[in-house]
Amino acid sequence: MNILAFEGTAHTASVAIVKKGKIVTNLKHSYTTQQPTGMVPREVAEHHASHLKDLTLQALKQANVSMREIDVLAYSAGPGLGAALQVINSFVTALSIKHNLLLYPIHHSFAHLIVANYIAKAKDPLYIYVSGGNTQLIMLKDNLHPVVYGETEDIALGNALDKLARELGYGFPGGKHIEDAAKKADKFIEMPYTVKGMDLSYAGLVTFASKLKDKETKENIAYGFQEHAFAMLMEVAERALAYTEKEEVVLTGGVALNSRLQEMLKSMAEERGIKYLKLEPQYLGDNAAMIGVAAWHFHLHGIEPLKSEEAFTKPRWRIEKHLEW
Ligand code: AMP
Ligand code: MG
Repeated sequence: MNILAFEGTAHTASVAIVKKGKIVTNLKHSYTTQQPTGMVPREVAEHHASHLKDLTLQALKQANVSMREIDVLAYSAGPGLGAALQVINSFVTALSIKHNLLLYPIHHSFAHLIVANYIAKAKDPLYIYVSGGNTQLIMLKDNLHPVVYGETEDIALGNALDKLARELGYGFPGGKHIEDAAKKADKFIEMPYTVKGMDLSYAGLVTFASKLKDKETKENIAYGFQEHAFAMLMEVAERALAYTEKEEVVLTGGVALNSRLQEMLKSMAEERGIKYLKLEPQYLGDNAAMIGVAAWHFHLHGIEPLKSEEAFTKPRWRIEKHLEW
């Protein structure tokens, strides 16, 4: 089965081809800003609309596959920015009508998890999913049914990094700017540390760190912020690992690109004697390969795709409900 897959829930427009569960192409183009602004939904929608056609043609060419050889389409139906989801939906619906193809609506976060099973050969891990819009500790029952062990009560870790970056004058996305600045710090600043049971809160930490901008250097603010934000995450992750007795842990989502966070998880996993499974960077941030792999996973589980007129988007969509179409 050849799957043509699309991602575009947030900043990244991506197109991939998955042949019998193997990723053969994974192309992407991301919306960025030089100015300290966040994502402007209208601009993100325009970005995706202007790149999808070229990405699709390039993906087919690179994989040496024609549209006639595609068996099914897959797209990220949510959660995400409404305007961006609408662009993806219109594009795949049009393709599905033109080429008479069915389509799989994929929950973006579920795709972030399941791709780890296929690429890093994870069997039954605890997933630490940290991205621009999500911060959750999850396990999958029967590889299909998510159970959330802990999550942010307000903003996601990636969003917190992006907000702080904006306050410090960096463009979007901000995570890498904060990481680079933190490496040049020369002082540790105490900041609020908010863990509530298995849940986290990042909003107060962003406010606190932002207020320091006229008193402390950007580098020291970035360092203090990272150390607190990541330590909070490690605390709940360690508790989830102790409780679930999982022997594998996967760090995924765009924030998983952060080397300091990776280092913290590595040492925690070593201390606990469990495996930390690493994904290649191209599969950590948003990408369409994970959407294609999730569709392949559905196919293997006997889940039927939708007709073009049944396609939908869900800007707010809990991962536990990813099979409710
Ligand atoms: P995603 O939505 O999964 O593509 O992840 C995007 C988020 O990852 C944004 O909030 C980025 O700021 C964040 N991000 C990207 N690279 C890094 C990094 N090196 N360190 C921390 N956060 C990062
Ligand atoms: Mg994502």
